Amino acid sequence: MKTLRLILGDQLNHKHSWYRNDDKDTLYFIAEMRQETDYVKHHIQKVVAFFEAMDAFAQWLRERGKQVVYYRLDDKHNTQKLGTNIAALIEQHGIEKFEYQLPDEYRLDQQLQQLADDLSIDSEAFDSEHFLTTRSELGEFFSDKKSLLMESFYRYMRRKHDVLMEGDKPSGGKWNFDESNRKKWKGQPEIPHEKGFRKDVRETLARIEQAGVKTFGNIDPQQFNWPITRADCLKVLRYFCEHLLVHFGDYQDAMDPQQAYLFHSRLSFAMNSKLLHPMEVIQAVIEYWHANRSTISINEVEGFVRQILGWREYMRGVYWREMPSYARCNRLQNRNDLPDFYWTADTRMNCLHHAIRNSLDHAYAHHIQRLMITGNFALLTQVHPDQVDAWYLGIYIDAIEWVEITNTRGMSQFADGGLVATKPYISSGSYIQKMSNYCAGCHYKVKEKTGDEACPFNSLYWHFLADKRAHFDGNPRMAMMLSLLDKIDSEELEALSARATQIIRNPDDF
Ligand SMILES: Cc1cc2nc3c(=O)[nH]c(=O)nc-3n(C[C@H](O)[C@H](O)[C@H](O)COP(=O)(O)OP(=O)(O)OC[C@H]3O[C@@H](n4cnc5c(N)ncnc54)[C@H](O)[C@@H]3O)c2cc1C
Ligand code: SF4
Repeated sequence: MKTLRLILGDQLNHKHSWYRNDDKDTLYFIAEMRQETDYVKHHIQKVVAFFEAMDAFAQWLRERGKQVVYYRLDDKHNTQKLGTNIAALIEQHGIEKFEYQLPDEYRLDQQLQQLADDLSIDSEAFDSEHFLTTRSELGEFFSDKKSLLMESFYRYMRRKHDVLMEGDKPSGGKWNFDESNRKKWKGQPEIPHEKGFRKDVRETLARIEQAGVKTFGNIDPQQFNWPITRADCLKVLRYFCEHLLVHFGDYQDAMDPQQAYLFHSRLSFAMNSKLLHPMEVIQAVIEYWHANRSTISINEVEGFVRQILGWREYMRGVYWREMPSYARCNRLQNRNDLPDFYWTADTRMNCLHHAIRNSLDHAYAHHIQRLMITGNFALLTQVHPDQVDAWYLGIYIDAIEWVEITNTRGMSQFADGGLVATKPYISSGSYIQKMSNYCAGCHYKVKEKTGDEACPFNSLYWHFLADKRAHFDGNPRMAMMLSLLDKIDSEELEALSARATQIIRNPDDF
């Protein structure tokens, strides 16, 4: 063997040029390792999904005649660490060159650079050929600008990739149809029953359990329904186009206690593991729209494309521009602990109960549940961003640091002081009532602000604004909220703060 090529668990890109070239003298290496299962406590479905997908990818490579070493957690040669595993393989197979694809996480990037420096043989890093921007492209785009406005980056991406463009003009005459995408779901339109596939993952689950990996969350190992092969990912994409796209934009922000996914695509794992390429997803959706323009309107399509071409690439760019200091930022100086109910869903607040239950049962919650329910409550109760990050990084099937931390610390917790979000995403109960069907079944009364039955979000919201006001003075996007705060008389504000303080001190009593 001359060359050893490392494939990380989130580098399952079937279309990578590595596999098209002559690689007779190449040994591919994929490994389940404790260094990856243990750096944060993960949801069991997340660990299972990655191991299943890695195993299936190794199989796919073997079917194409490639030579593959796959270490399961219990393989006797597995040292559970990347560096020692690679060093041993180099020795054992007389390897002359080590190659890897650039990892997406800072932690692994550092580790691999160090490893490459320490090796006595040559090494080379390759692009993962997945993203639509380079690591530094966003930094260069914003180099002469004061703020990192996603919208301007998104328009740059639309033009650069000629997506939803008619000449130099955006399709439909507008760049952004977000305003049309705020409908509450009231039981209609019907959500088509997901046909999907079900996989038996008992063997993988047993391996993880036997190794003693500490995980959390629930799993039905005979009915696992996350796509872990490229073929299954393509099925999920097709299903989205045929059944869900038609209402994606309209109900993008809606929430319902009985509906885990509404019209969301569930494609984040498929893309973050690189089984699907973002442009392939965008093109499939646009092609489907072109063939069905009489039934699918532009706002559904633009809303979806913006998430992938805009937000996803934007978050990656912010990550590489800001790391490693981003992982320490805590501009609002929040210090409280994450409530225990984030791990159990055991709370009388119906919105939190359902958003967390969903997350524990499915390793999934959609964007607005993450942002305006769990994220909102964590921010209003001033939880330390380290704890918020650890929870989001563990619980979601799609959670990989480059996209988790920028969404959590940046967009959701305002810990970067407004780099990603121009104002904090906070709300009282009224927004939750407007967008969801949670409040009707709640122990608390959404219209009440103080008193034992008042919705906790109401007092927390005003208390947060009053408490953190110094951070927002001078922010034009906060002017309206602060002027409403100023209109509250001091006695009422005192009562609101007293209730909020009670909740902050003992969130698990609520
Ligand atoms: C606090 C918080 C934490 C988050 N953590 C993650 C994470 O760890 N991993 C992750 O992939 N997404 C994360 N997101 C973004 C978003 O919530 C998920 O991408 C989305 O819910 C995945 O479900 P879906 O595939 O059904 O998405 P859909 O709603 O169908 O959207 C389609 C695709 O757009 C992309 N997308 C949508 N919103 C975003 C966004 N804000 N940033 C980047 N990509 C986006 C995703 O690739 C997604 O698959 C987070 C959001 C918040 C508010
Ligand atoms: S009343 Fe308040 S706590 Fe209850 S579901 Fe509505 S927003 Fe959530």
